[in-house]
Amino acid sequence: MTSNGHPSENTRLLSGRRDQDTENQAPTACESNPKVRGVVWGTLTLLFVIAVILLVGFERVFGDAFAPWLGKLPKDPMLAALAILDKAPVIDTPRLQLTEIRHLSYDFEDLPILVRAQYANNASAVDLESEMPGHVDIPRLRKGKVGGFFWSVYVSCPDPDLEGKDFLGGTWRVRDTLEQIDISKILINKYPDTFALALNTEDIRKAIIGGRIASLLGVEGGHQLGNSIAVLRQYHALGVRYVTLTHTCHNAFADSCGFFSGMIPLHGGLSNLGRSLIDEMNRLGVLVDLSHTSDATAKQAISHSKAPVIWSHSSARAVHDVPRNVPDDVLELIGREEGKKDAVVMVNFAPFFVAEPNNATVKAVADHVDHIARVAGKQHVGLGSDFDGIGDVPEGLEDVSKYPALIAELYSRGWNKYELAGLTGGNLLRVYEGAEKVALELQAAGTSAVFDLYDKRTDIPKEHSDL
Ligand SMILES: [Zn+2]
Repeated sequence: MTSNGHPSENTRLLSGRRDQDTENQAPTACESNPKVRGVVWGTLTLLFVIAVILLVGFERVFGDAFAPWLGKLPKDPMLAALAILDKAPVIDTPRLQLTEIRHLSYDFEDLPILVRAQYANNASAVDLESEMPGHVDIPRLRKGKVGGFFWSVYVSCPDPDLEGKDFLGGTWRVRDTLEQIDISKILINKYPDTFALALNTEDIRKAIIGGRIASLLGVEGGHQLGNSIAVLRQYHALGVRYVTLTHTCHNAFADSCGFFSGMIPLHGGLSNLGRSLIDEMNRLGVLVDLSHTSDATAKQAISHSKAPVIWSHSSARAVHDVPRNVPDDVLELIGREEGKKDAVVMVNFAPFFVAEPNNATVKAVADHVDHIARVAGKQHVGLGSDFDGIGDVPEGLEDVSKYPALIAELYSRGWNKYELAGLTGGNLLRVYEGAEKVALELQAAGTSAVFDLYDKRTDIPKEHSDL
């Protein structure tokens, strides 16, 4: 699926940047003879000039067949999209239905029933090489040129009445999350020719260059931590590499934005425990994911986190006004300039976050990409489709096989191949590398693990003196 023969081009495109090639040529015989050298260089220069005149001046005559020699892409947007995706495949956050258990009350159709009732977390009953009922299976991942994705180990928010206002009611969320990590890893291992568990950016690159799909694990909600930073450490040890600070409910760490109508804040953003959680995520190299959080949580997290942050699946509020989308005053905090935070907003395809009913199309999704690029910069936007986490889909982006349609749309709007390679995965890789660098620095400086406890817990003493 990737071009194994061109790792250097692959690497340049994956990083979404245009590096200069540096070639050190070995001394040759002609270097010792100025006359010979002059003739050789003169001839080469003449040939080069003639070639450039022919290829540029008569581009229409030669057509696309010569375009790759000039590093140009085909004029046809879809052919161009496929050529780009061959070198820079998509790294997205679709969610296999197996690892998703959506809250029934949000009308995510039959997803929860499918997961629990149809498969009962039994990996042997699942055939990802066949056509799966949702948006994701191996043939469609291959067709859509996906090089990596996060397996979202999501479990729904607890019932607030059972959990109580301090989030202290017993729930099974940690157990359920462990089950989702378990089945994700079993399925990744079940298809070793297709998937490769990735624990760092190096693993992602190796998987893509080797033609496999890098598989990362992400926890989609702080409620899945059981109010415990120690649980975060254990999730990290099991391979989890991002945690969304909240899902659709507030938790002990941070405020959520809720769903369609928003929510009354509880902490006013992050709690003290939330700030400690981010400290530990930074130290471990777990990405701070701000999708689903309130605006105050997002702003405070951007300011507090030492590492770059992500939105794993959020679109632009200025394009479609719902609380789940990122507002411009938050997008303006993103950047690589002094005083801003490096980040990537991975655009969600969910129709109700993209546009008014029946208006979600490839072009509408591209409008979100374009808007985020305009406000924050093209280096700060990615793809976070939420396939298999959503019931409806935009027209033209029906499943993971359809990514080329979006790339083609953006190509026809003027995005170049480097910008598109950043969008498909390079920007996420850069942000992730930034988080890895921060983690290494904190660890090298001997930064201690965080031992803060949730102050409302009564099951263990707060101080040694209480013993
Ligand atoms: Zn979500």
